[in-house]
Amino acid sequence: MTALYLSLGANQGDRKKALETAAEYISERIGRIVQASAVYETEPWGFDSNNLFLNQVLCIDTTLDAVDILDLTQQIEIEMGRATKSSNGVYSDRVIDIDILLYEDLKISDTELTIPHPLIWQRSFVYGPLLEIAPQ
Ligand code: ADP
Ligand code: MG
Repeated sequence: MTALYLSLGANQGDRKKALETAAEYISERIGRIVQASAVYETEPWGFDSNNLFLNQVLCIDTTLDAVDILDLTQQIEIEMGRATKSSNGVYSDRVIDIDILLYEDLKISDTELTIPHPLIWQRSFVYGPLLEIAPQ
C-alpha cells in the first residue's frame, strides 16, 4: 500500500456532484480510494466569495509517480470545467480543485510541485478532514 492523500474542493455549480465525479475519475485513473473523510462545508480561504466550499480528503493506494499524479489531477480539473488557475496567491471560485497533500514520506520542492503541500497547516479545511482519516 502506497498512501497518497488528495484534497478536493468545490464552490461552484453542483458541489456534491463535483466531489463525486472527481472521486470517480481518481479511482479510475490514479488508484483505489481506501479512505474518504466526511464532506465539510467551509468559507472561502484567501478570497471573498458568497459561494461556500465543500471539502473532502481522500486516501488513495497508487503506483504512479508524483509528477504523473499532478498531470492526472490537473487533467481531471480541466475536464470537469475548471477555468481559472490560482497564481501568486490570487484565488477564485472553482468547480473543482484537487491538491496533492502527502505521498508516503516523499518530499519534493520545485516550481510545479511541492509535497507535502506547504499550506496544509494554514488551512483548517485541509488539516481537519486529513486528521479525521489520518491522525498519524
Ligand atoms: P490552489 O490549489 O492553491 O488554488 P491551483 O489549483 O490553481 O492553486 O494550483 C496552482 C499550481 O500549484 C498548480 O498548477 C501546480 O503546479 C502547483 N502545485 C504545487 N504543489 C502542488 C501540490 N502539492 N498539489 C497541487 N498543485 C500543486
Ligand atoms: Mg489546486
